[in-house]
Amino acid sequence: RLEIRNITRRFGGRAVVDDVSLAVMPGQVTCLLGPSGCGKSTTLRIIAGVDMQDEGTIFVDGALVCDTIFRVPPEGRSIGLMFQDFALFPHLSVADNVAFGLKGPKAARRARVEELLARVEMLRFIDDYPHELSGGEQQRVALARALAPRPGIMLMDEPFSGLDNRLRDDIRDQTLSVLKEEGAAVLLVTHEPEEAMRMADEIALMRGGRIVQQGAPYNIYNAPVDKAAAGFFSDIN
Ligand code: ATP
Ligand code: MG
Repeated sequence: RLEIRNITRRFGGRAVVDDVSLAVMPGQVTCLLGPSGCGKSTTLRIIAGVDMQDEGTIFVDGALVCDTIFRVPPEGRSIGLMFQDFALFPHLSVADNVAFGLKGPKAARRARVEELLARVEMLRFIDDYPHELSGGEQQRVALARALAPRPGIMLMDEPFSGLDNRLRDDIRDQTLSVLKEEGAAVLLVTHEPEEAMRMADEIALMRGGRIVQQGAPYNIYNAPVDKAAAGFFSDIN
């Protein structure tokens, strides 16, 4: 369970993230949806621990992970990351990419790698190298790698943007079912309303650093908070 409270981040006096609060439950997908530059990636970077908020607190499973004084380093946060440039390690096989963050006995690591590769339907590529895979295949391996250490929380920043349209729908659906099976609390950043409608249990609509509306996709689509929000959704059908 991820909870952030009153997160603010300023660059040169301007609040790029402005008093943002959110909670994401295990097994749920929350989409942070908003136009370019509204502060989505900055929010994720703060949660991941690679950037630091000026104000606010972050809790994982009820435990304080970061406030303005105390800070758990990124690797201690039980957070899985998948960003747009999800680059696999080119010199490692598929198996070694997925095993990268794993600890414990070799047999157990191998079992976990095989389990995840089976889930993303990539088991037969286990001994291949990233350059031998298509973009969609690499994306599926990246998902397996992010989930392998069983993170309680998954942060995903436009993870499907590098894929062509035909592939994207399939990979979205598959990703969603794998995420649900693993039961992580997922915060997914996107600027595409259609993607949020398709994947989210809850949407947080962001604009100018603030969350302007939050709720079930159906409710946000049917009762947008204002004209700008309505316009943002108007080109989906
Ligand atoms: P996109 O959809 O284009 O990825 P975004 O919602 O992810 O946009 P952010 O990357 O969070 O947007 O950036 C929000 C704003 O903060 C932008 O105006 C950006 O220029 C500014 N910004 C982000 N990082 C920094 C930084 N390190 N220094 C100064 N300004 C920054
Ligand atoms: Mg971004």
